[in-house]
Amino acid sequence: MKAIMYHYVRPFDPEYPNFTNLDIEDFRKQLDYFEQTFGFVSKDDFLNSFISNKLPKGVILTFDDGLSCHYNYVFPELQSRNLWGIFYIPTSPFTKFKMLDVHRTHLLLGKFDSYEIYSFISAILTDSMLDNSKIEEFKLFTYNSQINDQYTLLVKRLMNYFIDYQSRTKIMDSLMKHFLPNESEICNNFYLSSKQINEMHLNNMVIGSHTVNHPVMSRLNEAEQEFEIAQSFKYLESVTSTLDHKTFCYPYGGFHSFNDITIRLLNNTACKYSFNVEHRDIELRDLRNSPQALPRYDCNQFEHGQIRNRII
Ligand SMILES: [Zn+2]
Repeated sequence: MKAIMYHYVRPFDPEYPNFTNLDIEDFRKQLDYFEQTFGFVSKDDFLNSFISNKLPKGVILTFDDGLSCHYNYVFPELQSRNLWGIFYIPTSPFTKFKMLDVHRTHLLLGKFDSYEIYSFISAILTDSMLDNSKIEEFKLFTYNSQINDQYTLLVKRLMNYFIDYQSRTKIMDSLMKHFLPNESEICNNFYLSSKQINEMHLNNMVIGSHTVNHPVMSRLNEAEQEFEIAQSFKYLESVTSTLDHKTFCYPYGGFHSFNDITIRLLNNTACKYSFNVEHRDIELRDLRNSPQALPRYDCNQFEHGQIRNRII
């Protein structure tokens, strides 16, 4: 069984020429390809696989980050094909009405030259803003398999891993004010609405937690991790009346992005399964022994999953 991870799925937007989204046409072609090559696993078969001794064959689809394109483009496409998907939603954009820093980075790098963004950051960056203890560790794991130009890579590493979260938000606020001053307008159209989440939930889609603030969980202490898990589920349960089951997905993914505390907290909250990013098939032993770290492929590892219209 293969789980596939998607982020942005939408048509090319000339306003953001460097944006790394999967084109909706390619998404359709990829669904055709999966149908013909592997087939899809039904929701019931997937959920039963945790208790049965039979491993279903085929593909399941997951979509991260609670993006509006998941309602506008993905949801209708899945419905027309009688398919289902799991949608992992970070909840702070709904409660704080503010974009997540990770998405602000995507927008800035999607619209502007990465060197320009890097220069702006380095002009205000000081050593005291860097989380020194993590730098060497994260260098080994992050973004090795993505295609990024040098400055895109530097900006992503700095923003996602190296700068402490408080300083990061301050730097991001300045960046957005300078480069994208209409942020609140962008934010309104960027994420799903609570109504859309509920509609998807009522129409056979699975809604899961992707934390509150989209942090690297392993960078947080136990109380902070507990907040991210408990509060995100609380919000999702309030907008859907009740979730059929709890499922979670680690922001950024990879074994470096969570720890034993995260797994214990997920087990304690009766989370049925969680997705990591590890590029291999799901085996029966994963479902039995490590349901809180199920492997997933990136869509770009399969035909039609590549990003087009990319200008570096
Ligand atoms: Zn994410």
